[in-house]
Amino acid sequence: MDNVRFNPRFADVAPYDAKYLPADCLLSANESPYNLPDDIRYEIRKRLKRLDYNRYPDPLANELRDLIAEANGLERENVVVGNGGDELLFNTALAFGGPGRKFLNCPPTFSVYAANAELTGTEVVNVPRLANFRIDEMGVLTRVAEGDIDFIIVTSPNNPTGQLVSDDFIRHLLESTDALVMVDEAYGEFARTTCRPLLERHKNLVILRTFSKAFSCAGVRLGYLLGDAAVINEYLKVRQPYSVDAVSQLIGCTVYQNRQMFSPNIQGIIEERDRLMEGLKEIEGVQAFPSDANFILVRVAGASEVWEKLYERGVLVRDFSHAPMLEDCLRLSVGTPKENNALLKGLRKVLKERNRAQQA
Ligand code: PMP
Repeated sequence: MDNVRFNPRFADVAPYDAKYLPADCLLSANESPYNLPDDIRYEIRKRLKRLDYNRYPDPLANELRDLIAEANGLERENVVVGNGGDELLFNTALAFGGPGRKFLNCPPTFSVYAANAELTGTEVVNVPRLANFRIDEMGVLTRVAEGDIDFIIVTSPNNPTGQLVSDDFIRHLLESTDALVMVDEAYGEFARTTCRPLLERHKNLVILRTFSKAFSCAGVRLGYLLGDAAVINEYLKVRQPYSVDAVSQLIGCTVYQNRQMFSPNIQGIIEERDRLMEGLKEIEGVQAFPSDANFILVRVAGASEVWEKLYERGVLVRDFSHAPMLEDCLRLSVGTPKENNALLKGLRKVLKERNRAQQA
């Protein structure tokens, strides 16, 4: 047979492209620029020696669930662990979306939300952000008041634009709808804030967190949700039984037990973000948007060309200039001081050379 019964629903779907390329300065994926601390890596190696590789892992990663629950003043039933935040986002669309169901999205934001809706046949209702990338709070509340939205994701701080969502707005939203409201706090550690206290009174709130950013584990694939036991149970219904493998569980427990070791790097990244912001403000032709995350969105004329010139200099950033509402935007992840210097120097040079060429 030289024919296959492809599913026409996916005919126009493009596979996700992280746009990852080799470079000296990897500033495109919002990872931590720091590997795990040596002490943690040593402890992981020690624990791995006792691992029964031949056995299936605990399907629910209960040891890690218990650690996370305890640290958040919750019970095991309020936590589910996933293969990265990405798996939990997909499971959100599976459990709360589907044909005939509606997802309220606030673009520009993490593109995976809308992609998951498309894959699961969920209708996307867009309430675009304002020109300064703040959420259109009135727009969201007005749309939600129609009563047909099944789930909402608000990202705080938002990727790729960097802004926090106000606690007052989240509280208001939670009170005005029975839709599931996910607050994606993938970058929350860099803002030193969380809406976790709202869990006590709001059954329809679920919080997403990840080990990939502040905890230097993007390569491991671990994320988790905090929520009401009945909400978490919906996730247990749709999840792949063994999606979090034994090695990831072991690493997750070790990292979580030692999470205070990450404080200096988190503090350092916040300070570097502020320094990078100051440096960017001094470069003519660059508009930098305020950020509470470990990246900064900038607008610069001819962004794709600037991206290319930076890449030629060994600095990889993320080009968003073809995304809706992000014309001429690049997202710069905060790296080590040395990487950030290379980025600032590169940007200065590229723009200066361009100015010179235009004047000639
Ligand atoms: N949420 C947001 C806003 C993100 O930017 C990311 C990663 N880019 C994720 C969730 C998922 O991260 P991970 O799958 O690595 O946990």
